Amino acid sequence: MVGVTLAYPAPRGSVVALSGVDFAVAAGSHVAITGPSGSGKSSLVALLANQLAPSSGRVEIAGRVARIHQDLRLVPRASALANVLHGALGRLTFAQSLAFPAAETARAEALLKRVGLGHRLHAPVKTLSGGEAQRVAIARALMQDPDVLLADEPVASLDPENAAAIMTLLDDLRRERNLTLITVLHDLDLAEAHADRILRLQAGHLVADRVAGEPAPLLRGAAPAALGGMQQSGGLAVPGSLKAVAAIALAVAMSWGVMQATPGSTQGAFAEALRFLARLVPTAAQLAEIEWAALAVALLDTLRMAILGTVAAAIFALPLAAVAARNITPAWIGYPVRIVLNLWRAVPSIVWALLFVAAVGLGAMAGVLALVAYSMGYLTKFFYEAFEGADSAAAGALAELGASGPQRFVHAIWPVALPAFAGSVLFMLEYNVRAASVLGIVGAGGIGHDLKLAVDWSNWHVVGVILALLALAVIAVDSFSGWARARIA
Ligand code: ADP
Ligand code: MG
Repeated sequence: MVGVTLAYPAPRGSVVALSGVDFAVAAGSHVAITGPSGSGKSSLVALLANQLAPSSGRVEIAGRVARIHQDLRLVPRASALANVLHGALGRLTFAQSLAFPAAETARAEALLKRVGLGHRLHAPVKTLSGGEAQRVAIARALMQDPDVLLADEPVASLDPENAAAIMTLLDDLRRERNLTLITVLHDLDLAEAHADRILRLQAGHLVADRVAGEPAPLLRGAAPAALGGMQQSGGLAVPGSLKAVAAIALAVAMSWGVMQATPGSTQGAFAEALRFLARLVPTAAQLAEIEWAALAVALLDTLRMAILGTVAAAIFALPLAAVAARNITPAWIGYPVRIVLNLWRAVPSIVWALLFVAAVGLGAMAGVLALVAYSMGYLTKFFYEAFEGADSAAAGALAELGASGPQRFVHAIWPVALPAFAGSVLFMLEYNVRAASVLGIVGAGGIGHDLKLAVDWSNWHVVGVILALLALAVIAVDSFSGWARARIA
């Protein structure tokens, strides 16, 4: 690495992360990079991994480089074995990566055994401890057959015992495989114990370069002062939560004032409301008269409409979301789709019901179509947000491993987005049970029709019974989705 400077573009001017950094590393040695937070260590690693180009100077690396990120960037829901196999994606075709070749699987298993995880091959990475996840990340890096292994703070989040074990493992692997090892280490004692050579960065400058175990010759006299800090603004800070409480208190006080100013006594209106509520509760005689069978059929119809509408909407929403997601489809296609979706979502479900009653006539079909139309707009939004949310770390890391777009989708985006999908479909189902119960008011099927008749005829006790049935249905759907969510997450 010769005279390397790296500047990140910033809102005003640029942030110089590294300046005039110059060093060479002997093949097969272990170099530790130390320095305070923000001194440019991770930027240096990104340069060595060829994921950033220097603003000036040259970075020359002989051989293949594998990098272990500070935050690992594994796919949390995938197994240890699957994560290690991701290291092979760069040399496999898409078809091969759907069912990994036996030779690659055998290699991945051997690597996991070597790093001490032979007994956790099929454990999802999210169930592993920090030390175990670090071992998976090391095995994934080795799966790329590197000549140079870069490890950014491989032990920062581990207890001292685990940290020493991981450092020893890295050292042993270096010797076995004749790797050049470059680590970023916070702990100087660890650097002394394990590295051949220690570099120290400060505010982007290489300020020390020494053989481990020897005193430090300073390269440049005094370290430059840290780059400009943030200006702390003065004044009395009011916490956000306090402001929110004050705003709510103000709103309550104002509505109280409005009620006081309204003609007719508040007390009278309150008593009237209580009397009305009492009429919703049926007497025993009224209960005996209610046509339970008809109401049960209407309730089941309502649930069927909700389920059908939700499932169909999810099926339509999935490809739409893939088109709208920024990390899957180019923005010039996705952006117009998003705008149309925004307009689409502005239409309430009851309005969709009116439109479909006009188009296909009275009945449950119109209701189902209304629910499909309405929930499709929301599910598409939830889905593309899930796709985009899943992108970040793991998919980015897979790109670095050489995975193609479709490979990233199958191995990182899809498994990470799946629980979010399931969650939003369940949420939509709950919503649709409630929506389906009112669509009948405009003739689009379901129990809303009975509700409207009961209101029209002032059969308040029937209204009360229907509302109670709906509450039970919502509680049932809620328990079901709680149960389902626990199984998917
Ligand atoms: P370290 O790993 O030593 O903590 P980094 O290399 O992450 O330091 O960061 C060095 C400097 O570069 C910091 O001032 C940081 O804010 C800045 N920096 C790092 N990454 C970016 C980026 N992607 N864009 C802009 N500035 C960045
Ligand atoms: Mg860092």
